[in-house]
Amino acid sequence: MKVGFIGVGHMGGPMCRNIIKKSGHEVLVFDLSKDAVKACVDVGGKAAATVAELAKQCDVIMTSLPMPKDVEAVALGPGGIAENAKSGTIYFDLSTNSPLVVRNVAETLKGKGITMMDAPVSGGVVGAEKGTIAIMVGGDQAIFDKYLPLFQSFGENVIFCGGLGNGCVAKLVNNMLAFCNMAAGAEALMLGAKAGIDPDTLNQVIRNSSGNSMGYRGVAKKSLTGDFSPTFTVDLAYKDMHLALELADALSVPLTLSPQVHNLMRMTRGLGYSGEDATAMMRVYEKTLNFEVRSKK
Ligand code: NAD
Repeated sequence: MKVGFIGVGHMGGPMCRNIIKKSGHEVLVFDLSKDAVKACVDVGGKAAATVAELAKQCDVIMTSLPMPKDVEAVALGPGGIAENAKSGTIYFDLSTNSPLVVRNVAETLKGKGITMMDAPVSGGVVGAEKGTIAIMVGGDQAIFDKYLPLFQSFGENVIFCGGLGNGCVAKLVNNMLAFCNMAAGAEALMLGAKAGIDPDTLNQVIRNSSGNSMGYRGVAKKSLTGDFSPTFTVDLAYKDMHLALELADALSVPLTLSPQVHNLMRMTRGLGYSGEDATAMMRVYEKTLNFEVRSKK
């Protein structure tokens, strides 16, 4: 079986390299960045010159792309998957995408004999490197069962979520929750530090108490070191939160906390931190108060 991987950035890169190293399948790689492709070729992948070249040859295609519009362009645009993949191709989109976009793209691809499923992932760059990420898959269960070993070559918890788009629904609500925890963590750290507690001591308390969460630990780590260099950018987090709010809007589900965090992300972007790590939400509080929450160690 020939596997094609499109989009080998922060997440796609390590996922693709694990497939190359562990699945035993031949893997073709395409990305707009030549360096990103090279990092996969160096461990045994084969570079494709275009999406079209990759799509023509592969039995299974995977994408890990930033925005829904990027997935639409690669799947349906000129020189894309729809135009070039053979009938019978299976296409897994690993991006965090809109369930509506997934269902629309899948419908068009179906007309060409291509089956699309959504399979977004969680666990960050470290999880992608270690192969411990969670993968939430939506679509046809028989296809899920058949390709489970392929998923297990780069993920640890592979969960079938039901129909097409449900993987994205699960991923979006998970991230919405994580960002709320992250924002609450920033507020808690700032309040405690302004009240005079040493930030490292406060962090030790929270990590061992009921306020602990993965989102909290992320914002604490970045704030204490002052290093907001990204593994997951503010822009991608903002996209995820936007998609979650869009879903709530479509279903008239009231959300009270998440829109506030969405606005906090807008402020973070407005201050110029779009390309920083999502935890740079803390920078809004720091700039407002002209006070930084940093480790004194
Ligand atoms: P990234 O920007 O690091 O990587 C995206 C890659 O796609 C880049 O290398 C870029 O060159 C490539 N690309 C963009 N448009 C392309 C095109 N038309 N053709 C070919 N390549 C193209 O982003 P990332 O952080 O790896 O995120 C990818 C997806 O995974 C996003 O949907 C994101 O929300 C999701 N995700 C990210 C993380 C994380 O921690 N970074 C965690 C879980 C899920």
